[in-house]
Amino acid sequence: MLEILPVGEVQHFWLEYLRYELEEYFGDVIISPPIEVPLSFNERGQVLADHLLDHLNRYPACAEKVLAVIDRDITVSGVDYIFGLAALGGRCAVISPVRLREVYYNRECDYELFLERLLKEAMHELGHTLGLTHCNNESCNMKFSSTVYEIDRKSLLFCDDCLNTVFGYAKVQDTRVYAANGEGSKNLMRTILDRLKKIQKKK
Ligand SMILES: [Zn+2]
Ligand SMILES: [Zn+2]
Repeated sequence: MLEILPVGEVQHFWLEYLRYELEEYFGDVIISPPIEVPLSFNERGQVLADHLLDHLNRYPACAEKVLAVIDRDITVSGVDYIFGLAALGGRCAVISPVRLREVYYNRECDYELFLERLLKEAMHELGHTLGLTHCNNESCNMKFSSTVYEIDRKSLLFCDDCLNTVFGYAKVQDTRVYAANGEGSKNLMRTILDRLKKIQKKK
């Protein structure tokens, strides 16, 4: 099961949209009530996403994967900003919609484009939790993006190489991850792999 977890106030429609779309890839997706966690800020007033992930990793989630959404600008030390963050093969990912809006850049609101970016960013960070690192394929979702233009250029889906990596990761991790996270994780991995395989065939 995938849990969508709003941190603080987040527009419910965005979460519903993510749930609707991510169900295709992750099977059961639930939206949890918003939680308040102590946030750490840098001198520019941005939320430190790595500290937030540390908190979330201690959060007693009922799901194998957790996608946190926070409607604040996020970063990690040493960079100006980030769109999202996740630990490789970890349980939790976090995304921020703040810089995905056209109005952030003083351009006309484009809601459809915003939602598309939100979903791509969610898939990207969840890709990291599935063991994917950044990919050099221009159209692959796992391509690193530092601007919204780069997000717009890439696809929602993973390239064949990345899909094979997820399949390989699931096999390699067969003993360790499943033993660490219990039977639930095994079932989630199966669901995701089955769905990704079907989608890959359709492409
Ligand atoms: Zn990334
Ligand atoms: Zn790729």
